Amino acid sequence: MTRTSPTPATGENTHTDATPRVHDVIVVGGGAAGLSGALTLARARRDVLVVDAGRPRNAPAAHMHGYLSRDGEDPAALLATGRGEVAAYGGRITQGTVESAARLPDGGFEVRLADGRDLHARQLLVTTGLVDELPAVPGVAERWGRDVLHCPYCHGWEVRDQAVGVLATSPVALHQAQMWRQWTDDVTLFLHGSPAPDAPTRAALDARGVTVVDGPVEALDVRDGVLNGVRLASGEVVPCDALVVAPRFTARSAVLESLGVETAEQVVDGTVVGTYVPSDPMGATSLPGVRVAGNVTNIMAQVVAAAAAGVQAAAATNADLIADDVRRAVAGSVGTRQATVGKG
Ligand SMILES: Cc1cc2nc3c(=O)[nH]c(=O)nc-3n(C[C@H](O)[C@H](O)[C@H](O)COP(=O)(O)OP(=O)(O)OC[C@H]3O[C@@H](n4cnc5c(N)ncnc54)[C@H](O)[C@@H]3O)c2cc1C
Repeated sequence: MTRTSPTPATGENTHTDATPRVHDVIVVGGGAAGLSGALTLARARRDVLVVDAGRPRNAPAAHMHGYLSRDGEDPAALLATGRGEVAAYGGRITQGTVESAARLPDGGFEVRLADGRDLHARQLLVTTGLVDELPAVPGVAERWGRDVLHCPYCHGWEVRDQAVGVLATSPVALHQAQMWRQWTDDVTLFLHGSPAPDAPTRAALDARGVTVVDGPVEALDVRDGVLNGVRLASGEVVPCDALVVAPRFTARSAVLESLGVETAEQVVDGTVVGTYVPSDPMGATSLPGVRVAGNVTNIMAQVVAAAAAGVQAAAATNADLIADDVRRAVAGSVGTRQATVGKG
């Protein structure tokens, strides 16, 4: 791709018919992290544009839990409110998918969208989230976020005291079984071809009353649109009200990778559970001018944590822009002084 440098930006709108508009910040991804970042930047009087593909991770869930003051809200309602708040301060939001980005010679960025638009910004905040790659068991993908679950803090209360199955596709399942036992005393661990737990682990499962079922799981058994149980390859159906799985968490990192920002493996208790984009606590990546927030850099971040990270990364982005504004102002005033001295 041939890329030319746009006109350098200031905090004001630099757009003319002849030059591309250079936003202070383009936020890639308009979930909780991105919209919170955009709100902070818009309130800092920055020219901010959010490009959002509109597929937040928790879209399959009907309710969002654990967000103080918003507990139980429709996840889509939170984002709709957030979009309105960003717009109220002059922030702009456009529907679209960013395919790639490139650094320009002046230090700014060009962002290319799938619909062919090229956009420009001084800095990028990438909040593209992650993809939950689900185990390939028939019925799992269809029921994800309803009665096929992962996070007990999101869904545990709703299935408390019910029959919960845990599908073992990695050693993480042993941890999940003990975790979900906190919410119900009816937990069944389906080994599904995984190695049998070692003696101490088995003793711990037995001590907490977790049932262990050997043999592969064939499919979910659904009756009248509701999960009825787990069907084993033997044909036996073990009743369950909910099934816990361990997705692979893959950072949505294509835009960052196009900039040369790399991902790393996310390891939990010695098991690789996915990828993330490393960053410092303020979202700084290995590339100056590009910050990240939310699930793309922190697989553990629930909505409120993703929102908080977006605010922090946005504040740090604004600080970088202020430093750049000062640098440009000093360079400009030095030039003016020199011109004045030259005249005298
Ligand atoms: C089933 C389920 C239920 C959950 N329930 C809860 C709950 O009850 N409470 C809770 O706190 N957390 C819950 N979570 C976790 C929650 O989904 C995350 O904490 C939250 O979505 C993280 O926000 P984010 O902004 O980082 O990413 P996301 O919400 O995933 O937002 C990322 C946005 O970026 C967009 N995007 C991605 N790539 C591009 C691109 N290239 N160009 C433009 N846009 C792009 C996406 O379309 C999306 O709109 C749940 C997760 C799942 C899977």
